[in-house]
Amino acid sequence: MFSYRHAFHAGSHADILKHLTLVHLLKYLQEKPGALTIVDTHAGAGIYNLEDGFAKVSNEAEGGIFRLTQYIESCKKSGAPLATSIEKYLECIDAENSDGNLSVYPGSPFILAHLLRPQDRLKLFELHPKEIDILRHNIQQLPQAKQIDVYAEDSFARLKGLLPPPSRRGLVLIDPSYEDKQDYRYLEVALEEALQRFATGCYAIWYPILSRRESAALPDRMKKIAATHQRSWLHTELRVENAPGERRLQASGMFVINPPWTLEKNLAEALPTLVKALGLNDGAKFLLKSFEA
Ligand code: SAM
Repeated sequence: MFSYRHAFHAGSHADILKHLTLVHLLKYLQEKPGALTIVDTHAGAGIYNLEDGFAKVSNEAEGGIFRLTQYIESCKKSGAPLATSIEKYLECIDAENSDGNLSVYPGSPFILAHLLRPQDRLKLFELHPKEIDILRHNIQQLPQAKQIDVYAEDSFARLKGLLPPPSRRGLVLIDPSYEDKQDYRYLEVALEEALQRFATGCYAIWYPILSRRESAALPDRMKKIAATHQRSWLHTELRVENAPGERRLQASGMFVINPPWTLEKNLAEALPTLVKALGLNDGAKFLLKSFEA
């Protein structure tokens, strides 16, 4: 426990799928003026230096955000149309790199904070003893700091206590490290409890696609949970390569409960571009499925 540091994975293909989806969800929910409560159950450090430290060691951003931005530049030069959700996502990345040099990658807390309106509130959970200090320090620097609560607590146990939010409008990002095999089970329990208390909330769950049994079973288990509560869902996956036997993460997925009707159309536009930009061999592909309750 606690060997996971998200800085190693900042700006990876998995972050791109997760954060692009997240930006679309939040922007959709913000089309109505009512206050939103946004919960990020697994926050990490908030923002990551791509030029130094862990991120530089792993270089996962090289195959992720650097590759994507280069591809998008070439599309712009050739006048090719860009998917709106890619543009909106990249605007959030650019906002933290105002000198035009991609030197930092904002994690979910910074992306969400950047998009907060005055009436919105953001709740961040982080358990790692070092990450929580870095997160707190990073959040204090933000102009939106007063709208953000940071909890050094186990979000799987605490999520239900925050639901339903006062305005009954909420977005919950659940992005565990899955470092502990039990995370799969804790996630299911937390999701069940959350839906019992706040069935109309929008829940976005990220997961890695690994050979481990729990990972392969997770999408079907989440579909079952959604069905029990008669909720609509959207399921998407992005695979950047098929390299059996290699230990690096080659694919990941997002499962969204109560997705906005616009999400599927926007992902259908964006995913082929992500496959082209980030794909490493002809095993690169995406999946996009949904169910309306
Ligand atoms: N959401 C972040 C982003 O997109 O930028 C990345 C989060 S990272 C995948 C998962 C984080 O959850 C790690 O920093 C880990 O320390 C933290 N964590 C693990 N178990 C937790 C728990 N039960 N409650 C809160 N945080 C936890």
